[in-house]
Amino acid sequence: MPQTARTLFDILHRAARSTPAPDAARRQASLATLGQMILDHADEFAAAIDTDFRGRSRDETQLLEIVPAVRGIRHARRSVARWMRDERRPVELNFQPARAWVRYEPLGVVGIISPWNYPLLLALSPLTDALAAGNRALLKPSELTPTFSDLLARVVVERFPPDEVAVVTGGVDVAEAVAALPFDHLVFTGSTHVGRQVMRAAAENLTPVTLELGGKSPAIVAPDYPLAKAARSVAFGKFINAGQTCIAPDYVLVPHDRVRAFADDVMAVVERGYPTIAGNADYSAIVTDRHRARLVAAVEEARGAGATILDHKAPGDDPRRLAPVLVIDPPRDCTLMRDEIFGPVLPILGYRTLADAMAVVNERDRPLALYCFSTDRATEGAVLDSCTSGGVTINGTLLHIAQDSLPFGGIGPSGMGAYHGREGFRRLSHHRAVYRVGAFNVFERLGPPWSDTSRRIAH
Ligand code: NAD
Repeated sequence: MPQTARTLFDILHRAARSTPAPDAARRQASLATLGQMILDHADEFAAAIDTDFRGRSRDETQLLEIVPAVRGIRHARRSVARWMRDERRPVELNFQPARAWVRYEPLGVVGIISPWNYPLLLALSPLTDALAAGNRALLKPSELTPTFSDLLARVVVERFPPDEVAVVTGGVDVAEAVAALPFDHLVFTGSTHVGRQVMRAAAENLTPVTLELGGKSPAIVAPDYPLAKAARSVAFGKFINAGQTCIAPDYVLVPHDRVRAFADDVMAVVERGYPTIAGNADYSAIVTDRHRARLVAAVEEARGAGATILDHKAPGDDPRRLAPVLVIDPPRDCTLMRDEIFGPVLPILGYRTLADAMAVVNERDRPLALYCFSTDRATEGAVLDSCTSGGVTINGTLLHIAQDSLPFGGIGPSGMGAYHGREGFRRLSHHRAVYRVGAFNVFERLGPPWSDTSRRIAH
């Protein structure tokens, strides 16, 4: 009989309130357990995700989930003792002798609700930060990857005591019950729409949230940048996991007279990388028929509105996979340019001046990622200064997420609060102010009656 989210939470909560903060060695041991759990079950995890997607490249799971998860854990293990160190703060002359410092303490129990698109990384990377910060955690993975979620629940029970890490599986009803629990912090990764609901539920408990959401991440190719090089990077970032990547370049802005050349370059990269689509184990499927139908309908809408569509020429039909599609200059009000695409469909838009390109970006919500292709530092600076986003990779795509030394998170509707590495440790720690009064402290004499003496001390 599976335990309910509430029962699992109560076990974690009781332990968090009755046990002192774990020291660095204890945290390193938990992180080591997590790392070993992933490595020992890596093939099973990849097979489970493959089953759930009905075709997910196992190499992509290795490269984009297993490797970064394990690297993030290694980074945290190496750094946690340093991150935990108390931070001395200056004490003003008036208050001396005294000492002031900040202690980074565990928050308690962290809730983690994660999506289906990178089910392992997006559940276990927040867990890494939670454990580094000395917390306990309850995970709720996505119902769209049930084989993976069940496997995760099973192996976590084998490796972790129930008062340190627990997993609850199930559908939206379970997710809603999890979001309503009085966590000390809740990390949600998923859509902006559900993020709003999660934040509303958390507000009832005054639970602070970290929201890792979606959006339309643009790529701007400046006139100075070699087109074929930009095409390679954009194709890599867009078509890996068949575009079901939160930081995939959603659309590309290219100088108006080079749009067709850029599209041809992207298609050449795609056709080389994926010479066939049907049954190609290197090319991931679309997670459900519903998601696939949504993408097909959005492309047909753009076609009907007069956009030029470039299809992949690979023979064969696959009811699960959707071949990469390039859409040249779709109308700005069509679904493809309104909603996050989250699939292997790439709109390519022409611009006349860089200012026009940046205006297209700024007409929309602040995105999770931004990609700028230019070797000119002035252009790079202008794009960085004018267009805000959660993170940026310059002259590449996706790579900023792979840096353990950088925070990862969105801004505005693409999310709030960053995690990964030191920022993740701090996000899930309580920054506790401690002030120790010295042996001879004039403030002992402060108080009514408000004589001249005490007034002098206060100034
Ligand atoms: P989703 O929002 O539909 O679901 C995410 C999780 O929320 C699932 O575990 C689901 O069970 C749960 N959930 C659903 N309804 C809920 C509710 N009412 N209350 C609480 N939890 C609920 O997202 P998805 O379709 O799984 O993932 C795709 C979206 O996630 C895209 O928008 C993508 O951009 C975004 N995403 C963001 C990041 C990031 O790091 N910023 C990473 C991956 C995906």
